[in-house]
Amino acid sequence: VTSDVLRRAASFERVVFAQDEAAGVRAIVAIHSTRLGPSLGGLRMQPYPSEDDALTDVLRLAEAMTWKAASAGLDVGGGKSVVIADPQRDKTEALLRAFGRVVESLGGRYIVSVDVGTGSADMDVIKTETGWVAGASPWNGGSGDPSPFTAQGVAQAMRACLHHVLRNPSPKGRRIAIQGAGKVGYHLAGILTREGAEVVMADPNLDSLARAVSDFSVSTCTPAEILSTSCDVLAPCALGSVLDAQTIPRLACRAVCGAANNQLATPRDASRLAEAGILYAPDFIVNAGGLISVADELHGWSEQRVRTRVDGIGRTLLDVIHRAIETDRTTNEAAVDHARERIRTLSALAP
Ligand code: NAD
Repeated sequence: VTSDVLRRAASFERVVFAQDEAAGVRAIVAIHSTRLGPSLGGLRMQPYPSEDDALTDVLRLAEAMTWKAASAGLDVGGGKSVVIADPQRDKTEALLRAFGRVVESLGGRYIVSVDVGTGSADMDVIKTETGWVAGASPWNGGSGDPSPFTAQGVAQAMRACLHHVLRNPSPKGRRIAIQGAGKVGYHLAGILTREGAEVVMADPNLDSLARAVSDFSVSTCTPAEILSTSCDVLAPCALGSVLDAQTIPRLACRAVCGAANNQLATPRDASRLAEAGILYAPDFIVNAGGLISVADELHGWSEQRVRTRVDGIGRTLLDVIHRAIETDRTTNEAAVDHARERIRTLSALAP
């Protein structure tokens, strides 16, 4: 492990490595902060090439959860976990239950939920070993798929972007490019086309793309074309690190506002976007709808409460944009500032 990664890990409240050879588990749980409440974040299952890669990823993801939860006004902290395994091949009941025992051993400091490579059915299995689980199936006390709420939040954030750059929040008549027609991209396309936007989408999965075309009459382009498609707002809803020194000069949009986690390849890319005159809506503010829904399970899930809270994402984003302008910083820096401020204020009030 490089000294950089170790230095980063040292700023975390707790980083736990767990191994159970019999069950085939190699896992890392990273608890970045519990200042606002128990840390909550998904379990990512991926065949990382090395433990170093897995550790780097889990640290980055766990820290982002702290800022996401704090910005969304939630009383939970930031954490995340990874299991180094191929979800298609290695995911067994024994593995999931062994991981559940790791979560149980943390005594509620970390609550596990779904992420890339895991779903509600996996949370149901983990729940046989520990109660510190969110995002299980509805029959098992969970709130089900959070994607519609994530999409609702992205749409609210998009209205805030349109208001800021075009002085009119309505998506009607605006051209929106969505990268990814998966769970969030699909629901987002539905909301935007119902409001009269002209939506263009790309996805290498042609079945997903065809569903959006048939349900919402969106137009399509190839994955290679979507980033440089001329549009008012580009919504990355597929992969991380899509905004970098190569792609930013090719963008033809007024604003970037989408659901994908970690859209900026490096913090420097936030400045590149600002220099190109493109408004960047920080991903962890925009995509908090799913976390808002999952975290609501801790209070007995209420759809109305979740929807009201998700609607607040637009207001939060406008506050962040204004803070960035006033302090001459990037929107990303202003967003982390905004989250840190809430944590500082509430920690000062703590007994
Ligand atoms: P998903 O897996 O359902 O959909 C992603 C889609 O992107 C897939 O259809 C895939 O084929 C497509 N894709 C892959 N490479 C692409 C490319 N080069 N160009 C265009 N499309 C491509 O995932 P999702 O749940 O819709 O999540 C989308 C993003 O939002 C992910 O980054 C995820 O981490 C993030 N996110 C999701 C939620 C949620 O509630 N689902 C919450 C917060 C953040």
